[in-house]
Amino acid sequence: MLIFVLNCGSSSVKYQLIHTETEESLARGSVDRIGMSSAQLSILRSDGYKAKFEIEILDHTQAIEQILNYLQHKEHGVIKDKSEVEAVGHRVVHGGQQITESVLIDDKVLTKIRQCIELAPLHNPHNLRGINAAMQNLPGIPQVAVFDTAFHSSIPPKAFLYALPYVFYLRDEIRRYGFHGTSHFYVARRAEKLCGGDSASLKIITAHLGNGCSITAVKGGKSIDTSMGLTPLEGLVMGTRCGDIDPSIILQIMGREGLTLNEANSLLNKHSGLQGLSGTSSDVRDLLEKGGRDDERVKLAIDVYCYRMTKYIGAYAAALGGLDALVFTAGVGENSPLMRGKICEGLEFMGIELDEEANQKAVGKEMLISRKDGRVKVFAIPTNEELVIARDTEKIVNESRKKG
Ligand code: ADP
Repeated sequence: MLIFVLNCGSSSVKYQLIHTETEESLARGSVDRIGMSSAQLSILRSDGYKAKFEIEILDHTQAIEQILNYLQHKEHGVIKDKSEVEAVGHRVVHGGQQITESVLIDDKVLTKIRQCIELAPLHNPHNLRGINAAMQNLPGIPQVAVFDTAFHSSIPPKAFLYALPYVFYLRDEIRRYGFHGTSHFYVARRAEKLCGGDSASLKIITAHLGNGCSITAVKGGKSIDTSMGLTPLEGLVMGTRCGDIDPSIILQIMGREGLTLNEANSLLNKHSGLQGLSGTSSDVRDLLEKGGRDDERVKLAIDVYCYRMTKYIGAYAAALGGLDALVFTAGVGENSPLMRGKICEGLEFMGIELDEEANQKAVGKEMLISRKDGRVKVFAIPTNEELVIARDTEKIVNESRKKG
């Protein structure tokens, strides 16, 4: 089945065209700077052909229309006609408590996604915009929503409740939801395969380290705890997000600086993390390349980032009652031997011992990077959220066709 996978942000659309029979991605790319006269559309085909175009794209509907135009283009494209697309799979960030698995999108589902806007005001509105835009461009084609929160719906109350008055949970559904679920699910399943044996008893920690970062404890294939919370702000130090802080800090800063809610939100989400600490960049590669050696603030920022991660590995090993495998994924996790090494420093006592040579070699590829005799297997595994979305979309479309 040919699936058009979409991930829609505020001013961007990422896409992939995936054939589920071969699990091959025929083409992938993005539209950036939607709303500007010089939006950028990119396409990368499976044969390695790449192209970039600068065109006016004012909204998500135009973005998807243009992507489909280029996918059908004689010179740049990979399909003859958009009618070859059999289904669309959407990444949707928040499914709340009501949606705990991927679903075929209908009016009821749209209402539920809309209801979750309050829980994910920075994400769900754009995901909805993407769904509407896809419906306009591909009328009558089934659309499936795959949620970032779904994999974490197995987290038990002792891990998802905050120690606040219980009424906020009951009335406002304030609790830990967790994000990056599709990525944690994919790499956990890969790690189970690579470990062999009985996956029902495996204890795995998965670390998704991209611009956003989160870490998940997976027991017997299920997420039992994860570092992001009600929103993607909690937990690890990220590119521009602070992760865990004493909640009273923000009250103090708001009082002292006279910040509005929006300003405080922006401070924590866009100006903190590596960016805030280093004062230089939110991008790990930038920090390592440009300032890592001499700049004290850059070094400190990286130390805080890695220490937080190391601490969570210890905490989640305790939550799991042991550890069989640790997985690194996403931009930093897949590509940076230096950061992986720094994070694992001092964890030999719990059986985490990297093989220096393997660690250096594992850049953008799936590899075991721990010593063969180490108690814990450590892997670098490139994530593939789009493939999970395509697989789920195919499954759900097939099921709905059977039901007739
Ligand atoms: P997103 O969360 O936006 O999908 P990615 O998963 O692509 O982002 O991760 C982006 C992060 O990965 C950036 O901080 C980038 O610097 C980092 N990164 C990518 N390649 C490397 C590398 N070779 N070494 C260190 N960091 C890298």
